[in-house]
Amino acid sequence: MNVDVLDIIRARQASQPVPEGAILPEHKPEMLLIGCVDARLDVREDVGIPQGRALIHRNIAALVRSNPDPADNEGSSVAASLEFAINVMKVKHIVVMGHTDCGGIRACLIGDHDESTENIRKYLTPLEATREDVIAHGGNIEAQARAMEEAAVRQSVKNLMSYPVVTKALKEGRIDVHGWVINTACKQISEMDLDSGKFRPMREVAQTKGAMSR
Ligand SMILES: [Zn+2]
Repeated sequence: MNVDVLDIIRARQASQPVPEGAILPEHKPEMLLIGCVDARLDVREDVGIPQGRALIHRNIAALVRSNPDPADNEGSSVAASLEFAINVMKVKHIVVMGHTDCGGIRACLIGDHDESTENIRKYLTPLEATREDVIAHGGNIEAQARAMEEAAVRQSVKNLMSYPVVTKALKEGRIDVHGWVINTACKQISEMDLDSGKFRPMREVAQTKGAMSR
């Protein structure tokens, strides 16, 4: 039988000696990464971020909602994370990272909700227009899910621009924004071209950049 995850955690705590003179790691984030809550992703490890170098904000489907009142920010958890990352920790990069086989995206695509998932339905409403677009393009459910995962990142990156803290920092050249989709199985990342909105494997983008700098 599967051991309860809480028992696994408690057993580890009980077996580990209390370390003496443990050193507090450095906290010098250069990035805010907005990712999904999916339990199969271990964001820092999957992406390859050294400890202390990225703030990670996770929610269902890595969704950035449009700021409903740009004059007065939203007071939401995303707005607070953006403010903390940009104005307090002075990060250089804001990344929205969706992933393949995303349950949130699939729920939005299929639209199969009842009263037990009412808040999820409401939460996903900003993706409604994107969903209709993807469905209009046809294809099987897998192809639609892939298209929707990319379209959701495109939408969230666009929505970042409704936060004054983001537009101000961009204008002043203090930050860059990025849209990624990570493959949940093999952890390869696709990167969005900000002009065309198209995605291509990061290793190809990195090779091109490497060639350009040689
Ligand atoms: Zn997900």
